[in-house]
Amino acid sequence: MAKIPHRLYLTEEQMPKQWYNLRADMKEQPDPLLNPGTLQPITEPELYPIFCEALAHQELDSTERYVDIPEEVQEMYKVYRPSPLIRAYNLEKALDTPAKIYYKFEGNNTSGSHKLNSAIAQAYYAKAQGVTRLTTETGAGQWGTALSEACSYFGLDLDVFMVKVSYEQKPFRKAVMQVFDANVTPSPSMTTEIGRKILEENPGTGGSLGCAISEAVEKATTSENCRYVLGSVLNQVLLHQSIIGLESKIAMEQLGEYPDVVIGCAGGGSNLGGLIAPFMQDKLLGRANPRIVAVEPASCPSLTRGRYAYDFCDTGKVTPMARMYTLGSGFMPAPNHAGGLRYHGMSPILSKLYHDGYMEAVSVTQTDVFDAAVQFAKKETILPAPESAHAIRAAIDEALRCKESGEAKTILFGLTGTGYFDMTAYNAYLDGSMKNHIPDDAELQRGFDTLPDIPQNK
Ligand SMILES: *Cc1c(COP(=O)(O)O)cnc(C)c1O
Repeated sequence: MAKIPHRLYLTEEQMPKQWYNLRADMKEQPDPLLNPGTLQPITEPELYPIFCEALAHQELDSTERYVDIPEEVQEMYKVYRPSPLIRAYNLEKALDTPAKIYYKFEGNNTSGSHKLNSAIAQAYYAKAQGVTRLTTETGAGQWGTALSEACSYFGLDLDVFMVKVSYEQKPFRKAVMQVFDANVTPSPSMTTEIGRKILEENPGTGGSLGCAISEAVEKATTSENCRYVLGSVLNQVLLHQSIIGLESKIAMEQLGEYPDVVIGCAGGGSNLGGLIAPFMQDKLLGRANPRIVAVEPASCPSLTRGRYAYDFCDTGKVTPMARMYTLGSGFMPAPNHAGGLRYHGMSPILSKLYHDGYMEAVSVTQTDVFDAAVQFAKKETILPAPESAHAIRAAIDEALRCKESGEAKTILFGLTGTGYFDMTAYNAYLDGSMKNHIPDDAELQRGFDTLPDIPQNK
């Protein structure tokens, strides 16, 4: 048999023309989003002030299995996709493992991550509806960058509320967004009511993702022809990210391979939800039984130590409530270098699958993650994003267990992006100043105390 190539790219012809909606194959559905005012399941029209109509529909659609990817979106995808499926021969050799390690690399675009896959879709639907302006938040900056690219491509104005600490620490991220004409504001800001209120109560605050979301939603609902978009957590985002898993599955089939284990890092759950989608489908339909593993930071452990409860998606409590694994919208994670994994909650779809036992979760500490990142970079020549390195850590650990047991498992993990804007983190790791923080139960309790006190949470 011919040796499996190092990198496999699908042809444009072989690229998926439809996204896959995992909910269509879930026997038990995630609990519905609730209107925070009435505590009733939210309806599509109730979402229209926040999301454009096509996206509001996708958010609540649990039955349509395959959704056509609009031509215009496919055209833009082809500029940077398909992304390669890579066989980590060098890493396997270094680990001396019988395991076969594959990774799907999503960092080959200017945003440096998978986030562009959903940004393009969300900007497209907004444009198609005649919306002229979008608002969003960004923490580490990848989502803001991705959306800036997409808005510039489709000719939409964009306001990005960037968590103030990131705004100050990552001036180059801001500059990239400005290349694509985005209007970037550090959050909390004086430009919104909620921002002014937060600043009044806490003038020195460095901001948080939840707070930036509140500002972006306020701006969207108070500006003309403007909608809000979010880069993770939502069902619509997982739908768009299914392109990652669909491409991976087609590529593996061509190689005559199927993963025994699928591993991804989990912040809000969008890359993981996208990567696992077609494999989870096989599992739900009884066609195969791969293990699915979510990897999260020990400093922000929503799946491994969170509560499965209804919660707000933002600090200002203006968004619909979702039932998910959460640390509470008031949870303030310790400064962590994997900024994209510091969200308090987790995708309701993944939360449900985890709750029902279809998925495992592990948490890892920062220094262990960077050990893996550096080991990987040296062998595979890609400098991984700290977020992505969580998946690398778990993949290496799995491969080392295979070495012990002699099992030649096939491992697939998601390499979500590159780490060029995270050199402060790499510096901290290299000079030995990086700290691991694992919250104690009392610290987590303070977050749980902010969960909404509603009958559904009793
Ligand atoms: C945002 C981000 C993540 C985490 O977000 P998910 O929605 O959980 O996928 C992971 N990796 C990179 C590179 C990111 O930018």
